[in-house]
Amino acid sequence: MTDLASQARELQLKFLLISFTDLFGIQRAKLVPASAIPAMARDGAGFAGFAAWLDLSPADGDVMAIPDAASLTPLPWQPEVGWVAAELVLAGTPMAQCPRRLLRTQLERAASLGYELRSGVEAEFFLLGADGGGIADPADHQEKPCYDQLALMRRYGLIGPLLEAMEQLGWGPYQADHEDANGQFEVNWTFAHALTTADRHAFFKVMVKTLAEQQGLKASFMAKPFAERTGNGCHTHLSLWGAAGAAGAGTNLFHDPAGELGLSALAYHFLAGLLEHAPALCALTNPTVNSYRRLAAPPTTSGATWSPAGISYSGNNRTHMLRIPDDQRLELRLPDGSAHPYLLQAGILAAGLDGIERQLQPGPRRDNDNYAAPLAPDICPRLPADLGEALDAFDGDSRLRAALGEEFCQAYGRLRRRQWLRDRGDISDAERLACLDC
Ligand code: GLU
Ligand code: MG
Repeated sequence: MTDLASQARELQLKFLLISFTDLFGIQRAKLVPASAIPAMARDGAGFAGFAAWLDLSPADGDVMAIPDAASLTPLPWQPEVGWVAAELVLAGTPMAQCPRRLLRTQLERAASLGYELRSGVEAEFFLLGADGGGIADPADHQEKPCYDQLALMRRYGLIGPLLEAMEQLGWGPYQADHEDANGQFEVNWTFAHALTTADRHAFFKVMVKTLAEQQGLKASFMAKPFAERTGNGCHTHLSLWGAAGAAGAGTNLFHDPAGELGLSALAYHFLAGLLEHAPALCALTNPTVNSYRRLAAPPTTSGATWSPAGISYSGNNRTHMLRIPDDQRLELRLPDGSAHPYLLQAGILAAGLDGIERQLQPGPRRDNDNYAAPLAPDICPRLPADLGEALDAFDGDSRLRAALGEEFCQAYGRLRRRQWLRDRGDISDAERLACLDC
């Protein structure tokens, strides 16, 4: 057991930022002085739940956010402040709609079956002007901007400290690059236990946004800021390992030299679960109205969207929804940058475990260029065309709902549905202009 108060003392923290991520992925926090840490570590920090996206009412009592000491992370740019991820309790009961708890519950279920999920995320982001309106660097205008060394190094003032911070936090960062859209970047760090990755993912988004803000920039993870450019993906790399005390503890159960492309039957069952539940999973992996402008989108000015056009899998081929990059893992290319760090992995794990439990088979992999010569819809079913369709699929996927828990699904579905009904009614200037003279 790690004691939060003594860790805080050792790190000479002046403050603790007790933080939770609500159902829409917004981090909410209280700043707590060192003297109050022992009480907060025990009882949690109190929040009015209705004020965040938690599907609560103003009449509900205090939501208590209980910090998990294992996630304590001193802010690299403000080391006297320690960020800590919390889980939510209402009236003495852990809340079903607490995203971090939901992921932990799925991980516990996996552990009871003998598995540990290890994962990595590729959290792409844009660097925009302070108002978020356009790309901040006017010189970043190549037709194919990916890996552009000059544009990358013009942002050394931000990317350098980012890499240093991640190194200092022990995340094992190993590369940063300019991505395929003008103004877009990616920083990669080493895969880890899924809860660790989710905490780091949550922290990473805040860290990038904060450091960007300090330099007069706006960092955005939104799925598709510009119609003609590649969007922000959040490709998720997945492998199941033997859980502590179970058969194959500490070994990668997805690897099998005798299997197709070096992957085990277990990996293919997991993959089949992802294929089967993909439409419903979209409600979690592609959670915003904007998410559906990235999927099945027309080619970009760089030549490709690099995002999935339908539900299919392949070997080392980036034009499909699932890629098998090597003999160690699967890469799900479906999620976008707006995916919730905890719900993303909770949903993936629930879908994959269902594939394992039912021994689902994914059928043959497809090696075509799925952009130039797309597969027919009976082989590669289409993805939801918008958030409304994804929510319908989420409503109708009883197996995924049972795995995630009905209480969570109802709360999440209600909030997202309300957002969808509001946003789909928006009439943009472009739409008005196009239809004015009809
Ligand atoms: N930005 C692309 C996407 O939206 C991914 C680019 C890549 O393959 O790294 O998925
Ligand atoms: Mg990328």
